[in-house]
Amino acid sequence: MKVIYPGSFDPVTNGHLDIIKRASENFDEVIVAILDNKSKKPLFNVKERKYMLKESVKDLDNVEIDSFSGLLVEYVKKSDTNVVLRGLRVVSDYENEMRNALANKSLDNNIETLFMVSKAEYTFLSSSIVKEIASFHGNVEELVPKVVNENLKEKYKNTYLED
Ligand code: ADP
Repeated sequence: MKVIYPGSFDPVTNGHLDIIKRASENFDEVIVAILDNKSKKPLFNVKERKYMLKESVKDLDNVEIDSFSGLLVEYVKKSDTNVVLRGLRVVSDYENEMRNALANKSLDNNIETLFMVSKAEYTFLSSSIVKEIASFHGNVEELVPKVVNENLKEKYKNTYLED
């Protein structure tokens, strides 16, 4: 089975990576699809997010990185699968994810959303938390792939705590 794992990945964290790795072991093919959402102001542009994801999954043969804009259902329709994978951390994720999955189903009855539960140690981990810590020059080494840690340092290198 081929699955599409969509998200912002701004930037990819070890929580995302854990889902991608486990998906690659349990499904034939995984397409990680970066949402180019014009209404959100991302820290990293799509090109940067794609580069960091590619670097992070380079040892996983059945994982591909792609990007899309607009509705997920339209992107899924153009692909050769109907299965979307999302990660679940806490109850608040469940509420949002349930709403999104039902909205997608109402737009395209053929779409199926599967959920993979986060590893216990990553339930607190999100791209926003990582950005928050990194913006104050905190250490996020254990939370993100090496390439992301380096890129975060570069992004925030000219910001000082007293600013
Ligand atoms: P979005 O803006 O679409 O929620 P994210 O990049 O924040 O994009 O998340 C993409 C997917 O990865 C979502 O399904 C989210 O629940 C999941 N996810 C994010 N962080 C983790 C984590 N630490 N553990 C497991 N799943 C996660």
